[in-house]
Amino acid sequence: MINDQQLTNPSDEFWMEEALRAAQRALEAGEVPVGAVIVNAGEVVGRGWNRNIADSDPTAHAEVVALRQAGVNLGNHRLGDCELFVTIEPCPMCAGALVHARLKRVVYGADDPKAGAIHSVMEVLNHPKSNHRIEVRGGVLAGRSAELLQSFFRSRREEGEGRPKLNSCPPRRGA
Ligand code: ZN
Repeated sequence: MINDQQLTNPSDEFWMEEALRAAQRALEAGEVPVGAVIVNAGEVVGRGWNRNIADSDPTAHAEVVALRQAGVNLGNHRLGDCELFVTIEPCPMCAGALVHARLKRVVYGADDPKAGAIHSVMEVLNHPKSNHRIEVRGGVLAGRSAELLQSFFRSRREEGEGRPKLNSCPPRRGA
């Protein structure tokens, strides 16, 4: 059992501020505002924000974008000395990618009750059958991460009012 003392580091808030700045970039680009930074020996080696729309890429989540950049920067697909700071709890795809990268530590902001794969919906990270253990700390500057997402979805709903929903079916003929 890892005690909470070990997991708490005053610089976590500092790096989460960087991740929040990355999330802000996503927001400005009209993407879901999630940001991530990867830190190695006190330096940012990867930075990402959601770019699904910009890249027409369903895998272009902040964490994946940051992992790719860190791998290139360090010349290694294993990132065992790195820590990831991300504004929301990673989804199953990103959590799986973090396991593949053999990350040392993950620090996240808000929980994601709809898709979180650390503990909210499923446990992809540190699954009992997985033999790689990653240190985790959640809830860092969580209020600000959540607020960013909530304001984004609120403004999208307001914009979408009066227009048909994207996923709604066309009316049936003769109905
Ligand atoms: Zn993800």
